[in-house]
Amino acid sequence: MEKTQNSPLILDIKGNSLDDGPGIRSVIFFKGCPLSCVWCHNPESKKTGPEISYDATDCIACEACVNFCPRQAVSRENLFFIDRDRCDLCFLCVDNCPSGALTRVGNAMTVDEITGKVKNDIPFFTTSGGGVTFSGGEPTLFMDFLSQLAQSIKSEGIHLLIETCGLFKLDAFSEKILPHMDIIYYDIKLMDPQQHKNYCGVSNEIILNNFRELNRMSAQGGFQIIPRTPLIPGITATHENLTGIADYLQSQGVHKTQLMAYNPLWLEKNKKIGVPCPMGRGAEKKTWIPQEKMMEFKAIYEEYGIQA
Ligand code: SF4
Ligand code: SF4
Repeated sequence: MEKTQNSPLILDIKGNSLDDGPGIRSVIFFKGCPLSCVWCHNPESKKTGPEISYDATDCIACEACVNFCPRQAVSRENLFFIDRDRCDLCFLCVDNCPSGALTRVGNAMTVDEITGKVKNDIPFFTTSGGGVTFSGGEPTLFMDFLSQLAQSIKSEGIHLLIETCGLFKLDAFSEKILPHMDIIYYDIKLMDPQQHKNYCGVSNEIILNNFRELNRMSAQGGFQIIPRTPLIPGITATHENLTGIADYLQSQGVHKTQLMAYNPLWLEKNKKIGVPCPMGRGAEKKTWIPQEKMMEFKAIYEEYGIQA
């Protein structure tokens, strides 16, 4: 599949990951997501289009970006350095930034380019029981591209895992993606549909329906599905929500889940791409969740016979 204007953008291909599935993995991050969770740990992955990131810690104040910008969009007076309303994404500032403080976020890559890159890591996959993980953003937003990419990587004998928010057309997913997957990491963030809408932008109805069906299908073998819940203080990490999720998972015959610890570093990431933090919506906590609290959350699941 050649690059076109509609090709998905890749944020990054990160090797040597130990956090995105079994063994050592290469993680392919897609740009674009149908949800808009207020706590998103990868805020640069929300939009499908390219963006500019500005990291003040790398800036040497040379003013090259100010001089090269044809739209007078760069200014130290601007809270986020770049006026995103004026900017037309010509990337002249990025191309002329000598320090790397300005970077382009999101690049189109072909299936062959991505496959070639992850193939270099096959020795690590083989010795560790690892493989490739599709992440994002939401990889299923690009179903046809993902299908071709998954086939291409799988033909190299590489283990595949997808991290998904679960908001997709199940027929298309079952036909195009599922046959190539070994493991699905499936997010279940909030049980209450209205809260899901408030904090993630959409109801969880389709997500829960898709989980129920895929979990049923996984019982026939061929792939494994593991639900995951990000622990966001005061939002998902409440006794009421986690009890509701544990109760639901028990009703679906699930015995294993994953709890993802809150990472406050996302607050800084938002600033780099010029997005104000969603203050006042309860997602701006600046501290990590203490270990004893994590044990409490795990104990909720244990009461339902679920290992977390
Ligand atoms: S991308 Fe172009 S228009 Fe936007 S700030 Fe940089 S130089 Fe200016
Ligand atoms: S060109 Fe780069 S290093 Fe120079 S002022 Fe702009 S962001 Fe800073």
